[in-house]
Amino acid sequence: MTWQEKIYRVSPVIIQNIICNLEGEKIYRRRFSKNFFELFNSIKERDKISQDEMEELQLRRLKRQCIIAYENSLYYKDLFDRYGFNPYKIKCVEEIEVFPVLTKEEMQKDISKFINRHIRKRDSVKIGTSGTTGAGLVFPVTKECENEQWAVWWRYRHNLGINFDTWCANFGGKVVVPLKQNKPPYHRTIYRFRQISFSMYHLSEETVKEYFNVINDNKIEWIHAFPSTLSYFCSLMKKAGLSFEHKIKYITIGAESLLPHQEKIIYNVLGSRPLQHYGLSEPVANISQCEHGRLHVDEDFSYVEFIPVEGNPDCFHIVGSSFTNDALFFLRYNTNDIVTLEKSEKRCPCGRNGRIVKDIEGRKYDYIVQKDGSKIMILGHIFRNMINIREVQIKQDKSGFVTFYVVRCDKYSYEDEKILKEEIEMRFKIDYAIEYVDEISKTKRGKHRLVISELANDD
Ligand SMILES: [Zn+2]
Repeated sequence: MTWQEKIYRVSPVIIQNIICNLEGEKIYRRRFSKNFFELFNSIKERDKISQDEMEELQLRRLKRQCIIAYENSLYYKDLFDRYGFNPYKIKCVEEIEVFPVLTKEEMQKDISKFINRHIRKRDSVKIGTSGTTGAGLVFPVTKECENEQWAVWWRYRHNLGINFDTWCANFGGKVVVPLKQNKPPYHRTIYRFRQISFSMYHLSEETVKEYFNVINDNKIEWIHAFPSTLSYFCSLMKKAGLSFEHKIKYITIGAESLLPHQEKIIYNVLGSRPLQHYGLSEPVANISQCEHGRLHVDEDFSYVEFIPVEGNPDCFHIVGSSFTNDALFFLRYNTNDIVTLEKSEKRCPCGRNGRIVKDIEGRKYDYIVQKDGSKIMILGHIFRNMINIREVQIKQDKSGFVTFYVVRCDKYSYEDEKILKEEIEMRFKIDYAIEYVDEISKTKRGKHRLVISELANDD
């Protein structure tokens, strides 16, 4: 936890609101710069370009990145030379498939080798990521890269009918309200983003009415949430006999897969279908659901490969190469997420070219049960700045108690353990133990599971 977070936690609500809005202003200025809006317009225009134009665009962008990587990073200079790969003469994007797939663990070992040595510090920002294995990675992205990522996400939102001035009720993983606070408000309003940010950690049978009232009184038409949080909210609303007086026009979800039973309860209670996009901090793949409900690969954003999972012909790893990040190039980077593909060749009525994904498998999250009996969703999110953790698994065999199995990197120290404990205690009402292990076993599908619950399933 940073000192800013510590101050935030002990401040009164009014000060927290001011801090949220100051921070919001800072992020807004960076994210929605003049450059963003210029990019946004051109990215909207290339949404429905022809297959040939797309291939030409991909080759041009990939070639540019390969040249930058070759000229400015130790890792790619060495890799390309070893394979006799000439980035100036690349003729088709598939040529890069000679290289081995890159894992997060490999980058974690020595990230400096991957970084563009000539990029100026002030031209990039550092961001953190975790994903489903719990391994943390902090890496630089250029402002252009961040702008493009947001522009692609906003293109998807625009296609659904959402505008920059649409107010949003947001249920995210951030601790916006300190866990110790046990009275409303359970949200903070960030005016610049037109966003009411709710605490998913305080949501319960006792508090659901507070959440409901804020959305209802302000007639918020757009809800963005994790599917598990939103379906939990909907089941609490149903139990309490609550229904909104206005229409919830847009429901967008992210960070994890939408399960059929979740979709059903969300639709039953809110009356609109949730739509999703797949994206991650590493700018290597983006998949957007269109107005017809199909999941389209954003082929203009990065070069995405679907690599078959051994022993499972229906499942594919998402492996991607970025087009945009001049600060650090991701080439054939394994996201650790898995998809199934649409077999039929039929085009989507929306008219977009490119590949269609049937289901994003890789992002199913689980719950743990806390000391007071309430359930809380576990996200890799909490480990995202913990760069000295290689993998984590969370195991629960009795209510209110959880064991964290941690695979450490060489640089892991007492300080890291302290941060891990703080992160756990800030978010969860549980007793826990931390155990250090050498490795974590994988599922039959080769997937790392973040949470193993051995409690009787009462769903
Ligand atoms: Zn479509």
